[in-house]
Amino acid sequence: MCPSFFTARDVGFPIDFLAALRSRRSGKLLKTPLLMRLLAGTHSFHEKSGLWNGCCLFAFLVIQAAVAAGQAAPGEWPLVTPSPRLEWPVRGPFLIGAQFHDFQNYSNVPYLHGGIDLRAPVGSVICTPVAGPVTVSSYQIDAGRSPLRFQYRRWPFGSRSGGDTRYVEVAVTDAWGQTWMFRHLDAVSIPGEVLRRSRTSEPLATGTPLGTIVAWHQPVLPETATYHHCHLEVVAPDGTYLNPALMMAPLLDDIPPQVHGLWLVRNEEERVFPAGPDGWPVVDGDIDLVAAITDEMPGSRYRHSPFRVRTRLLALTASEPGELLPWLEVLRFDRLPVTGDRTQLATVIYKERVRVGEQVITSNGEMGPRFFLLTLTNGDRRRGYAARNALPTRALRDGRYRYEVEATDLAGNLASATLEFEVRNR
Ligand SMILES: [Zn+2]
Repeated sequence: MCPSFFTARDVGFPIDFLAALRSRRSGKLLKTPLLMRLLAGTHSFHEKSGLWNGCCLFAFLVIQAAVAAGQAAPGEWPLVTPSPRLEWPVRGPFLIGAQFHDFQNYSNVPYLHGGIDLRAPVGSVICTPVAGPVTVSSYQIDAGRSPLRFQYRRWPFGSRSGGDTRYVEVAVTDAWGQTWMFRHLDAVSIPGEVLRRSRTSEPLATGTPLGTIVAWHQPVLPETATYHHCHLEVVAPDGTYLNPALMMAPLLDDIPPQVHGLWLVRNEEERVFPAGPDGWPVVDGDIDLVAAITDEMPGSRYRHSPFRVRTRLLALTASEPGELLPWLEVLRFDRLPVTGDRTQLATVIYKERVRVGEQVITSNGEMGPRFFLLTLTNGDRRRGYAARNALPTRALRDGRYRYEVEATDLAGNLASATLEFEVRNR
């Protein structure tokens, strides 16, 4: 289906033009994507939809041109929020097992999840929320710590024996070239018609059943129920991982994130600056701000990373009080990689551990309880991220300062915390 709303402010598109496109929206939407029909040489779509679909194609080309012209850098594929938003693929109730942006470190390999785990009973029907050509694959994950990597190896479903029968993926490519992947479907449940179309490239219509959720083999703690789930992942043509939650109907969530702690460490080090005699840490040189932030969803004991985090720095010294660094959106996980590889990025955004006196606090992204330490001074979405980035306190006057941190989840629930400290370089 044709998305009808752009988050254009992110990418510098001609917003007025897109608004004009929007206003021409026809009430009827295509049952199959225009691009595919054009490629297939068929022109049987409804007359009234023609104009709107032509606009969709044109907008798509505008996006492509913007990417090509460098206005939208690779990895900044514009996330399109359809209106109305799409239906979630699970027919029936489901819970979130892991969010798109959750830090994970199964097998001690740090990476960002990149998809959303939809927990639902075995046999729950999965339907495609978008129309387009379909592929069916088996796959395995190739992940390791040295060199740090997290990749998928795929082969056509049924083309060879062996492999993990839980690792079956049905993928539908929408009109924008975005590929919607539905993983952990029961191989025997995939309808014959879907398998047939995967060989002929005939498009599937929105809402077509793709199969049912396969039986998982174990729970993911702290939940003790077996972790039956469908992993939903959306990848743009330029390789950007998109957060599906921003394209789907909003989920009910009234639980705000929690900030468990804020600490300062020397750049890229683990030991936190201890509190001085006056009760606040005394720091010098290049420092990192590290935050422990988690979020929860109703009906589940899993913890997630916050969706968005912003910080600002205030000077508290009497001679020169005020806002030193205004609010900066440090993290917003509407896409991955923000810049660079998502595995490398995980090690820059997430901090593996901090040492608070004798206590060691660690990030945990596998069996629960999950816990997330985030470095908030390693960059932001526009400048990119690097471990060497820090707050250079030598550029500041000696004196007292306060970091303020705000974290929000996808529903906009807010948590905030502050940390006061003293800079003493001279
Ligand atoms: Zn998953």
